[in-house]
Amino acid sequence: MTDHTHADTLRTPIVAVLGHVDHGKTSLLDTIRGSAVSEGEAGAITQHIGATDIPLDTISGMAGELIDPSDFDLPGLLFIDTPGHHSFSTLRARGGALADIAVLVVDVNDGFQPQTEEAIDILRRTGTPFVVAANKVDTTPGWNPQDGEPIQRSMEAQSERAKSMLDENLYEIIGQLSDAGFSADLYWRVQDFQKNIGVVPLSALTGEGVPDLLTVLMGLSQRFMKEEMAIDVTGPGEGTVLEVKDERGFGATVDTVVYDGVIRNGDTVVVGGQDEPIVTEVRALLRPRPLAEIRTEKEFEKVGEIGAAAGVKIAAPDLDEAMAGAPVRVVRDRTVDQVVEEVKAELAEIEVETADNGVVVKADTLGSLEAMANALREAEVPILRAEVGDIAPRDIAVAETANQDEHKAILGFNVDLLQNAESDLENADVKLFKNKVIYQLVEDYERYVEEKQRAQQ
Ligand code: GDP
Repeated sequence: MTDHTHADTLRTPIVAVLGHVDHGKTSLLDTIRGSAVSEGEAGAITQHIGATDIPLDTISGMAGELIDPSDFDLPGLLFIDTPGHHSFSTLRARGGALADIAVLVVDVNDGFQPQTEEAIDILRRTGTPFVVAANKVDTTPGWNPQDGEPIQRSMEAQSERAKSMLDENLYEIIGQLSDAGFSADLYWRVQDFQKNIGVVPLSALTGEGVPDLLTVLMGLSQRFMKEEMAIDVTGPGEGTVLEVKDERGFGATVDTVVYDGVIRNGDTVVVGGQDEPIVTEVRALLRPRPLAEIRTEKEFEKVGEIGAAAGVKIAAPDLDEAMAGAPVRVVRDRTVDQVVEEVKAELAEIEVETADNGVVVKADTLGSLEAMANALREAEVPILRAEVGDIAPRDIAVAETANQDEHKAILGFNVDLLQNAESDLENADVKLFKNKVIYQLVEDYERYVEEKQRAQQ
């Protein structure tokens, strides 16, 4: 554990964006980044690997009169670039969520959808404070766009008809949050974000309400970071692997979000691997080049060290077997063995309960594997084996050993069938299900079992 000595140092809060497909997560992130850049100052944003850092000055420029920067002692906000609750649950830190706070995007016309419910479950389970972005207010019939305006002012400028239609939709969302066990209200009526969820109407398209969202995020962060997130930003670095990628000239690298401490070039690090933790030495720490320099130079620039919170690409030998979602720990002040044990303990928390009989589950990351396992437990589907990675011949062999017909199945979440496994699958009595949506995967499997049982009667 890190020694939390510098209690006054608040690091940049890590923000994740979640929500149902097409409700506007990507657009919202683009709009936040875009309007930060058009704030115009140099250093308006810093592009990280897998994340974007928006400094306090830029946020206060964007939020205008809504924010007084002297009220905050946070450096800014670090937005994780990959939206979606799938990536959110992948991103763990010491058994909890990597993101300190979250934005749950809900299409104001569409209300709660299956992935909204899934996201809420994950936020509840991880105890992550969140704000609801009630997106696409501009699609309200009769809406008159007020580009980039704070939302209350924008709403005052609308016709009575638009106002009442929007009100109706917003109260529906507030009701749905209440059904899910959260007390929520429009953000300007929320007195205490610890007890209430703020609902911010906005439009990722016109930018209306985005200043308000940033204001609420800063308020939420300040509150929660102060309470529990004062960290020692100079201690040994700790992070989470976002992705394992082959990079020309560097071999296998891990894109990592550093949530605590500092990682330096040359550090010995322990990274969670497919079988055993990997012990290796950092050869290079890479960040995207500033946009202006990209034309002539290589895509990345090397940095000597990187401190939390940040996104960085780590190049080091032996990272081929590294696992997305696994921990990265710098070995400093402790022995390699101690750190290896720590990484093992953290990975053990995610280990999935398996039975002697059941389905084979493959998923792209540890977090998604865990989410799959939870969904299957709820559906009372036993798991024979669960692993991160593409579907290989041995998975088919294992699935075949299941001793009940209906269980001879592989459920692959966001993974591919390896080419050398194709003929095995054809010759085996094993059914393969692949999907990028967990609940659909489980539903497809359940339907298959039902049909099979019906055919047998
Ligand atoms: P994601 O799947 O949640 O990342 O959703 P996207 O950001 O890709 O948005 C899905 C669709 O909704 C796209 O066609 C967007 O242009 C559109 N969209 C997103 N936000 C808004 C908005 O505020 N207003 C309108 N009118 N369309 C939006």
